[in-house]
Amino acid sequence: MKLTVLSGGVGGARFTRGLLAHLATTDPGSPVTVIANTGDDMWLHGVRVCPDLDTLMYTLGGAVHEEQGWGRRDESSRVSADLAAYDVGWDWFTLGDLDLATHLARTQWLREGLSLSRTTERLAARWRLADQGVRLLPMSDQPVETHVEVDDGLIHFEEWWVRHRAALPARRFVQVGLDTAEAAPGVLDAIRDADVVLLPPSNPVVSVGTILAVPGIRAALRETAAPVVGVSPIIGGAPVRGMAAECLATLGVDATAEAVARHYGLRATGGVLDGWLVDTADKDAADRLAADGWRARATDTLMHDVPATARIAAEVLGLAGR
Ligand code: GDP
Ligand code: CA
Repeated sequence: MKLTVLSGGVGGARFTRGLLAHLATTDPGSPVTVIANTGDDMWLHGVRVCPDLDTLMYTLGGAVHEEQGWGRRDESSRVSADLAAYDVGWDWFTLGDLDLATHLARTQWLREGLSLSRTTERLAARWRLADQGVRLLPMSDQPVETHVEVDDGLIHFEEWWVRHRAALPARRFVQVGLDTAEAAPGVLDAIRDADVVLLPPSNPVVSVGTILAVPGIRAALRETAAPVVGVSPIIGGAPVRGMAAECLATLGVDATAEAVARHYGLRATGGVLDGWLVDTADKDAADRLAADGWRARATDTLMHDVPATARIAAEVLGLAGR
C-alpha cells in the first residue's frame, strides 16, 4: 500500500511515527512519502533552518526530544548562548548545538548547488528513514516563507509564533515566494499514485494550508484516485497544543473539528478531503459530517504514545477503506 502524508512538524511527525508502527504489523514494506511544509523555513546566523523537515527527520529517526516534540534529545545550547554574548541573531530562537550541525550540513550542500530535496535526502540518509520505507520530501525546492501581517507590517512566521506566541493580531498570512514556487520533484506523483493520501493532525493553516497553496498540489489532491482522509488537530474546540486557533481566526474559521473539515472541504463538492477522523469529544461533528456525505468517525485521537498513535492511524486508514 502506497501512502502519502502532507505534514507539518510535531503533529505530523508524531502521527507518521504511529502510522509506521501500524504498517510494520499490518503491511510491512509499504512505501510512505512524507511531503513536508517548508513555509516555516528561514535563514538564521547564515544557516538555512527547516523546522518541519527537521522535526520529521528527528522523530522518525529516533533522535527527537520527546517531551518538547522538536529538536534533538540530549541537546545543549552553548553556541546560541555565545552568539547572544555577541548580541547577534534572535535571542528568542535557540538553535541547539547538535541541531546546528544539521543546518550547517544543509547549508553547505545548498551552497554547493544541491536542491533542498537533495539536501533533505542526504540528511535523511543518516537517520535511515529509507530503511523504514520513508521518503521525506520538501513541498517545494524554491524558498517559500510564511510571513504574518501584523499592525507594524510583515514579520516572519517564526517571529510571530515563537517570539510573540501568536498574541499579536494577525491580519493575514503571506507566503513569500509562492508565486514562483513549484512542487518539488516527486510531490505531485506521490499524491497521484498513492493508494491513500493522509492529512495528519497538523496545523490546517500554516502547515497543511501552506502545502496546499503550492501550485499543483490542490489539483493533484482533487484528481487522485486515492481516498484523501485526515485527522482533526482540534479536539473539543481547541488545538491539542500550539496556537492553531489564532491561525484559524485569521482566516475566519472557527477552532472546531467540524469547521476545519468544512474549511478543507469535501472532494465531492470542490474540496480536498473524503474523510475526517475526529475525537470522541466531537462525536456530534462526525455525525453531522457523515450526514453531509463525509466518511467521518469519532475515536480517541490523543497521540499519547506510539501504540495509541498507531491505533489512530489504523482508524483513519479504516475511513479510507484500508
Ligand atoms: P508544527 O509544525 O510543529 O506546529 O506541527 P503540526 O502543524 O504538524 O501540528 C500541530 C498541530 O498538532 C496542532 O494544531 C495540535 O493541535 C495538533 N496536535 C498535537 N498533538 C496532537 C494529538 O495528540 N492529537 C491531535 N488530534 N492533534 C494533535
Ligand atoms: Ca511548523
